Amino acid sequence: MSAVSKSYGGVLDELVAGTWVDPTTGRRCSIPIEDIVVAECLQGREAELIASRHAGKRITVVSDPFTRKALGERVFTALRNLGQVDEFVWERPRCTPEGVEELSQATRSAEALVAVGSGSVSDSVKYATFLDKREYSVFATSPMNAYTTPTASVSFDGFKKSITCHSAKGAFFDLGVIAKCPPRLISAAFADVVCRTTAQVDWLMSHLLFDTPYSDTPYVLLSYDEDKMIASASNLLNGDIEALGTLTRVSAIMGLGTSFTGTTHCGSMAEHMISHFIDMFAGKNHPGTSHGEQVGVATLTMSRLQNAILRADEPPRLRPTVIPVPELNRYFGAETTSTMIEQAERKALAPAQTDRLNRRLAENWDDIAGRLRAVMRPYDELHAAMRIAGCQLTASDLGLDPAFYQCAVRHSRFIRDRFTMLDFAGDSDSLESFAREAA
Ligand SMILES: [Zn+2]
Repeated sequence: MSAVSKSYGGVLDELVAGTWVDPTTGRRCSIPIEDIVVAECLQGREAELIASRHAGKRITVVSDPFTRKALGERVFTALRNLGQVDEFVWERPRCTPEGVEELSQATRSAEALVAVGSGSVSDSVKYATFLDKREYSVFATSPMNAYTTPTASVSFDGFKKSITCHSAKGAFFDLGVIAKCPPRLISAAFADVVCRTTAQVDWLMSHLLFDTPYSDTPYVLLSYDEDKMIASASNLLNGDIEALGTLTRVSAIMGLGTSFTGTTHCGSMAEHMISHFIDMFAGKNHPGTSHGEQVGVATLTMSRLQNAILRADEPPRLRPTVIPVPELNRYFGAETTSTMIEQAERKALAPAQTDRLNRRLAENWDDIAGRLRAVMRPYDELHAAMRIAGCQLTASDLGLDPAFYQCAVRHSRFIRDRFTMLDFAGDSDSLESFAREAA
């Protein structure tokens, strides 16, 4: 069965082989992960996949009680033939400094870890092995872009931070296993990659207006699959292997995006800032929704804003940036506000610069808006695909107070120095009314 299981690697196979040539640069692309395998079934191949990445190493397989049942037990049993293999079933996985210390202690006899699972298990293994300079591979139990990123989301006193660690040696996706994961995880993964459209518009706009660095490479790779992924959204929740294979590929490429560009901009602009804002400031009213779920709702918000601005015949008239210091102070306190001011000042429009920008926009609006519209998906299409994929669509779907969401849309532009459509709207006085509607 295993030998004939269909591969769904697509362009990932070329990236792993080092044969993919970027048409925009004419150069071959390399990735930091040695092996990525996406297949209908990996049963019977586990030992071969791990032996070729971690030959002769003492290995511990790490799972939690849920992921052990889903796949961990199978992987451990298969790897036992390699000898020198242990298992650690982590009762309470958490990617915090204390959690990662517990994981390191429990697995200290191993030279390499094999993570089985998503979220906490995968990120904790990534972070722990980075800290103590060991190697790791991962078997996925849901579609997620975190498997192929070098970053881990670590919680410090409840405050999540993205820490750059290292990449897995191998990332392995058994679509038959992924098909059985909770539907909510599949919808969230879909939401966390359809944000390509709003992130690209924001990143490209910043490039066109301010000549900030920009790369088409991740978008070329994503373009092979995105239309197909959107078209097959209705099959994602019924276990369709083809649809899940496409989503898994798109998620993996999204995760690799940082490797091509050296920054997270390609898949993380205003929609991610709104989600980070929710995590930072919802406090005890945080509904417990996941990153992908929040990014999905914020993507719809940003898509509506981008579509409205870029489909207008005239450019909005920008004004020099006003950072509402007293208001930020009232909401967030002096310490947080000073960090926000620092970020906001780096991108704030000065008066002379604003005049130049307004002239440029007036003279070249058709060209600038046209180039951005060319990479943008229509709002209605995005909304329909997300609805059909079971994603949350509004702040109330997430369980957020509309007034808080309005605050997030108005103020999240101050948490990062990236210039996005939130700044464009904020500096042209249309953000207030837009935020009211969005909430
Ligand atoms: Zn994300």
